[in-house]
Amino acid sequence: FSQRDAKFLFTATKPEQYKRLSNPEFTFAGRSNVGKSSLISAVLRSQSLVKTSKKPGHTSTLNFFGLTSSTYPESAITVVDMPGYGFRSRDDWGQFIMEYLSTRKELKRVFLLVEAKVGELKTTDLSFLELVEQYNVPTQLLLTKTDKLKRTDLNIVSAKVLRAAMDVAPTAVVPEVICCSYKTKVGVDAIQEAILRASGV
Ligand code: GDP
Repeated sequence: FSQRDAKFLFTATKPEQYKRLSNPEFTFAGRSNVGKSSLISAVLRSQSLVKTSKKPGHTSTLNFFGLTSSTYPESAITVVDMPGYGFRSRDDWGQFIMEYLSTRKELKRVFLLVEAKVGELKTTDLSFLELVEQYNVPTQLLLTKTDKLKRTDLNIVSAKVLRAAMDVAPTAVVPEVICCSYKTKVGVDAIQEAILRASGV
């Protein structure tokens, strides 16, 4: 996204707030502390943007970011930060989020973040995958904090989580895992390329 500029648009708590946005949309989801804010800021190439919009305690809000470019001054692509799940039950986590996933036509892909060192999908990840399968949302796994693992272990974990995800969501899951690290910036280009490819911009 070298020529693109990212900006924070708004925090949404109801569908009316995001309905007017009609660009291809990409949403980042995952358990709390998985490294989501760090990775989104790397993808958007903005250190301050995501941290500023992060409000602790707000579990049922969606943060919207717009990526603009000289060709698309309005906003070419929308990136959404979904609240981290894992400490709460699915019901708690939000009717609003379920509604978003089930009705959002602009949503081209969900990136589901899984921490490499955790090495497996947790119950909350599996529940989330059931939802995206049910609502038919293409979903790609991102292994995060891969700087903490050796290459050989990484290959094993990557294959293992992909198999587990495809068992639950065979239609929704994109059969390719992107290994990422905020620390080394590995995988950031691959995420940006995946976004551009899937958005058709
Ligand atoms: P979030 O809760 O999912 O938004 O996670 P954060 O982005 O706030 O990161 C949670 C913690 O993991 C922080 O202490 C980060 O410094 C750390 N972290 C994030 N990304 C990486 C990474 O790629 N490598 C390592 N080693 N630590 C990371």
